[in-house]
Amino acid sequence: MTRPDRAGAAPPVALCDATVVVTLSPPEVIRADLVIADGRVRSLGAGERGPVTRDCSGTLIVPGNVCAHHHLYSALSRGMPYALLPPTDFTEILQRIWWRLDRALDEESVRASAVRGGLDALLAGTTTIIDHHASPNFIDGSLDVIAGALGELGVRSVLCYEVSDRDGPVRAAAGIEENRRFLREFRDLARGMVGAHASFTLSDETLEGCAEVASDAGVGVHIHVAEGAVDERDSLRRAGRRVARRLAEAGVLNERALLAHCVHVDDDEARLIEETGATVVCNPRSNMNNGVGHSPFNRRPGKVALGTDGIGGDMVAEAQAGFFRARESDLATPPDWPLARLAEGARVAGERFGEPLLGTLRPGAPADLCVLSYDPPTPISAENLAGHWVFGLAPGRVRDVYVAGELVVEDGRSTRVDEAAVAADEVHVAGRLWSRLEATPVHTYDPRREK
Ligand SMILES: [Zn+2]
Repeated sequence: MTRPDRAGAAPPVALCDATVVVTLSPPEVIRADLVIADGRVRSLGAGERGPVTRDCSGTLIVPGNVCAHHHLYSALSRGMPYALLPPTDFTEILQRIWWRLDRALDEESVRASAVRGGLDALLAGTTTIIDHHASPNFIDGSLDVIAGALGELGVRSVLCYEVSDRDGPVRAAAGIEENRRFLREFRDLARGMVGAHASFTLSDETLEGCAEVASDAGVGVHIHVAEGAVDERDSLRRAGRRVARRLAEAGVLNERALLAHCVHVDDDEARLIEETGATVVCNPRSNMNNGVGHSPFNRRPGKVALGTDGIGGDMVAEAQAGFFRARESDLATPPDWPLARLAEGARVAGERFGEPLLGTLRPGAPADLCVLSYDPPTPISAENLAGHWVFGLAPGRVRDVYVAGELVVEDGRSTRVDEAAVAADEVHVAGRLWSRLEATPVHTYDPRREK
């Protein structure tokens, strides 16, 4: 869906008397009036008022957050029924929960999930979602449905379809084609990557197909890597080499690749990933919830971003939980741990949009920003921003959100959609989705079996 460029026609807006986080990493914090014009930050300074002014005293204006690994399709799963034996390992979590939910999704529920997930993210100050989508019984056109839903909300996104062989060769081919098709079309606020599930559900041929589509389009492959130990065991059995080596030989690892998790990679794989320039996305809450372990990339600097892996869209919550998890293992974890990772997520999104200033509020940057009701009792500066971020910020502080210069959340409410109507609709959609889910059997694909 292509939205009209309303922001371009809007008069300049001055956000006045705020504390502005110009950059997250390295932190830069100033007191300023921030002027938005033509969808971008026009200026930062004192007294630069436009025809429209908004009082932002007592607020902290921050760059909009980027969730670098999300699964919007899970947005209607909260509280869903579960009548099976509890899963005992990561494979069973997939077989009994997520690979049943994704097969129950249809067009209606894909759309409603994207609306709910996108809305939750925006209301938490997340302005870009890098999503990884799976709906094996509704593949063709699924990315358009998601892009349309997110476009209506006014949230920026980088989308892909999760290619996998677990549901057979026809669906694997359809998944590759969905990525290829989506990458050909231009949208205002959405871009594409090539999605791939994980080494342990992908044949060499399918992996190479994904790499080829990505190479042709000049984008990266977005893939789960060694989330569970089963991925490494499968790769050793299947290919005689560990996951990162296998992906490198298939042409997946390069500077545009986005690798979610990397929990079970060994030192050799970690070095290989860094040498290829790929970006790793850590998802600490998801890893804790699935009991899969702790990514060594939590302790490595460089191209490491943060995602929720579908546990909502609140990157302040994710950053705080991840920081505390990292500190639990290593007291040397510096306070700026979350800021550096959030900036990396913004870099990835900025590269897909051709916007190197995305994730900053420097003049010329896309005006993707969040106005937080945050008036701390202690001074705030570049030197102590990390401490405020980890120990001061909290859910519910988001007042206003701008994406590409447009006010899409005002006083904590969407300006684009009727939230009550959305909620009234999704409860019915969720009921139908849950009924199909209950009728969907446990997935029989089992990478633990000897091949
Ligand atoms: Zn994931």
